[in-house]
Amino acid sequence: MLQLRSYVGGHWVAGTGAAQTLLNPTTEEPLAQASSEGVDLKAALHYARSTGGPALRALTFAERGAALKAIADAIQSEREPLLELGIANGGNTRSDAKFDVDGAIATLLAYAETASSLGQSKFLVDGEGIQLGRSARFHGQHIAVPRHGVAVHINAFNFPAWGFAEKAAVALLAGMPVLSKPATSSAMVAHRIMELIVANKLLPESALSFLVGGARDLVSHLGAQDVVAFTGSGETGVQIRSAPNVIREAVRVNVEADSLNAAVLGPDVEPRSDMYELFLKDVVRDMTQKAGQKCTAIRRVIIPYAVAASVREDLIELLGPIRVGDPKFEDTRMGPLASREQLADVRAGVQRLGGKHAFGGVGAVGSKGFFISPILIEDPGEAVHEREVFGPVAALVRYKDNPAEIVARGAGGLVSSVYSDDQEFIERMVGDLAPYHGRLFLGHPKIELSPGPGTVLPQLVHGGPGRAGGGEELGGPRGLALYMQRVALEGSRPVIQKLLGKT
Ligand code: NAP
Repeated sequence: MLQLRSYVGGHWVAGTGAAQTLLNPTTEEPLAQASSEGVDLKAALHYARSTGGPALRALTFAERGAALKAIADAIQSEREPLLELGIANGGNTRSDAKFDVDGAIATLLAYAETASSLGQSKFLVDGEGIQLGRSARFHGQHIAVPRHGVAVHINAFNFPAWGFAEKAAVALLAGMPVLSKPATSSAMVAHRIMELIVANKLLPESALSFLVGGARDLVSHLGAQDVVAFTGSGETGVQIRSAPNVIREAVRVNVEADSLNAAVLGPDVEPRSDMYELFLKDVVRDMTQKAGQKCTAIRRVIIPYAVAASVREDLIELLGPIRVGDPKFEDTRMGPLASREQLADVRAGVQRLGGKHAFGGVGAVGSKGFFISPILIEDPGEAVHEREVFGPVAALVRYKDNPAEIVARGAGGLVSSVYSDDQEFIERMVGDLAPYHGRLFLGHPKIELSPGPGTVLPQLVHGGPGRAGGGEELGGPRGLALYMQRVALEGSRPVIQKLLGKT
């Protein structure tokens, strides 16, 4: 069977000891094995810091951007085999796999473009210079420089290509070497991308390391110049944050965790209107795309009492024809969950949400594979504001007066959406919802090819307060801040101007 390997210290290294078997979640057939046992993580981090760091920092932003473009091109040239891998190892439909792989390409290209706008410099000038004294000679200027550590990227199972790219593009452009660790169960896509990068020498030596298998004691070797960007469950996020060395050395940590994203239908929206149809379409897309295993998927469908019966019936009608099955068939609209553990977790979560099932249920679908039907819940218990069910599950929650108060019970999220034509209502929702979110999606039927709230765009920030982990990634050049140290220069204006290349 295929043995996935780690790439550390400038070499491919196979793990020893008991390996985890990666399955095809449709057939349960074993596909590959992965183990990180025996990989010297401390040495891997040291090599990245001492070799990859200086090599990257010697490059200008434009040169780092050219490397990102080359990675995007390499992924593009291998797109078909990568989609096949996503279908086999992730249970993705072809459209789900494209969402992941094309999302990776688009994000790398977006940061390659950011790089060209940053040009020949190796660090960032942050804002305007400031006159600090009575005379213009006493001058201040903020700059941001790449940190001298390693950026450790720990990813979730649901987006092996995009998850890798959205973190790596930003850190590499900032000038930090990366050690990327995909979730083990779906690591094959990221592993293949890494093979392409290494085989084609697309980055300076050791600017990018790759770890397959468990994280083991990885986090315990991190220090003050390092950064951890983690995507996964809130529980693991807490473990990482509370590691003694992370606290002691103030290791910079970014957490992208759980989120109870809400879609709010305005009281002005009439059934059958374009706005209403858009709302239904976005809810159904988010429930079924990637079998609901999307951190940004709508979990809570917040609707006025007056149209609750109509929304319920219309969603049932739209969910009815969704074909759940083998994702390699073209008419399949929803594949299996990614793993046996995911299936068990979704079943337990649905139980916890309580209420009645307006559509679907937790029973077995087919005799093999980790399948479940879409599930629409009505009259859920309070757990709907507490427990993220990471699958094709959404709950209807009715409101009388103030939907924002209901949304806020989710205690912080990645994205929520508002569907309304009433400007006053939209303004009230933005004011009340913004403090609880990283992004607000204002649905409008006139936006052509609207991707809905579930798509993360590299130009906009991704992350959210509270339950969502308190992190922030992407957002165009804003994202670089995670990997850079802002420093205030204070001194003689001509000296500082010279440093900045201004004469
Ligand atoms: P998870 O169990 O927390 O695992 C996430 C990653 O952390 C995996 O790579 C995992 O490695 C690794 N990991 C596990 N224990 C670790 C430890 N003690 N130290 C360091 N790394 C450790 O989460 P998951 O079940 O894969 O992902 C589902 C969750 O991710 C959902 O709750 C979802 O909301 C969240 N998510 C959030 C976002 C976002 O952007 N906010 C995006 C996607 C998913 P192994 O695979 O080797 O165990």
